[in-house]
Amino acid sequence: SAEVVFCGRSNVGKSTILRELTGHDFTTGKKPGVTRSPGHYDWVSEDFVLTDLPGFGFMSGVPEEVRETIKTDVVHYIEDHADEILVGVLVLDGKSAVDIIDRHADRGEVPHDVELFHFLQDVGIPTVVAVNKMDKVDDHDERLNAVCDRLGLPSPWQQWQDTVAPVTAKRGSITPLTEAVRTHLHDQRRDDLL
Ligand code: GDP
Repeated sequence: SAEVVFCGRSNVGKSTILRELTGHDFTTGKKPGVTRSPGHYDWVSEDFVLTDLPGFGFMSGVPEEVRETIKTDVVHYIEDHADEILVGVLVLDGKSAVDIIDRHADRGEVPHDVELFHFLQDVGIPTVVAVNKMDKVDDHDERLNAVCDRLGLPSPWQQWQDTVAPVTAKRGSITPLTEAVRTHLHDQRRDDLL
């Protein structure tokens, strides 16, 4: 069935966003596994499910091989379901994402978030980057431009509002995300009708 998938490093606030969107609890953040919440969300007149993909990256007490396996599982899930996935939401922690990306890049590694963003685009899934925890960020424009830069999107960030959505899920402030997702869902419905 049609689905909107949510992915991101662990602890970025994925469960909090899903709770805001659905009103029910997604508490799988800490353990590997895929949770699907069937439902009718009032973004479109069609039913689709929200899929909570396991958080990847550093988790205290989780060994490196397990972390790698989780990331591989996320990538395989997306590959296997690419035809049904209407929108991919990549959740970032606005407070730490740029530093983490730069740290990995300095070590000559491809940062997970950047890799996943390009992967979603490569498999043709419209992608929204939810930059969460904006309450912890002082200069919003500067940070969002930096996020865009790391993802290969030219500044200013305001031209990417269908792709980059600053949110503070903890305070229920997620309108830029719902608007961006809605835009992609509507685009696809229009494509289907043509
Ligand atoms: P997940 O592992 O990605 O599912 O993350 P959670 O939803 O469990 O959130 C991880 C932590 O970040 C929790 O302590 C949340 O309360 C906190 N958090 C989530 N959203 C926000 C936010 O918008 N601002 C701040 N400051 N903290 C947040």
